[in-house]
Amino acid sequence: DKFISLGISDRIIRALHEMGFEEPTPIQEQCIPVLAAGRDLIGQAQTGTGKTAAFGIPLIERTTRNAQTVQAIILTPTRELAIQVAEELNRIGQFTDAQALPIYGGQDIQRQIKSLKRHPQIVVATPGRLMDHMERRTIRLEEVRAVVLDEADEMLNMGFIEDIENILAATPAGRQTILFSATMPKQIQNLARKFQNDPALIQV
Ligand code: AMP
Repeated sequence: DKFISLGISDRIIRALHEMGFEEPTPIQEQCIPVLAAGRDLIGQAQTGTGKTAAFGIPLIERTTRNAQTVQAIILTPTRELAIQVAEELNRIGQFTDAQALPIYGGQDIQRQIKSLKRHPQIVVATPGRLMDHMERRTIRLEEVRAVVLDEADEMLNMGFIEDIENILAATPAGRQTILFSATMPKQIQNLARKFQNDPALIQV
């Protein structure tokens, strides 16, 4: 089993098989060992390549059980993607204690505050709504160990660059920073230079 040779634990492999994943996609094969080792990463990949599980599997592996605050943040350009990513992570983590919560603009904020109080380890958020929770102090980021920027070029196009910088600046400097983007315009390269530490570059 190729998933076993990537060092993935049994309870996650069981979920992957239930999801119908027989073997890792190329981006998963390349990204999982790098991310499991805690390294920063730039992944140049389109949707449909299996990038969600490529960052999701190691994130879930590295999640600890008894945390009272968020351990990982995934930023996405749209609410649809936030929901989709959180669903996939919850499927991958169905036999673990890891919980992923999507929070996005347009959804009732009081409901989100209630869900955040149940201490999900992973939050999948659109940048504007995450900033809103930071300003209200309804989310705390000081225990965040990993931040994923999913579809970073799309977030840039939607004008989220300032929010992304503010969010990264509010998380611990020692965090793992993972950037996925289909294209690598100058502003994304600058973002990587400013917030990543010796990232591995993986292209599929
Ligand atoms: P993504 O690029 O993350 O949006 O994934 C595209 C689709 O491929 C999603 O429906 C995933 O559930 C599916 N997928 C991801 N990894 C695998 C795999 N190893 N085997 C089969 N399907 C996969």
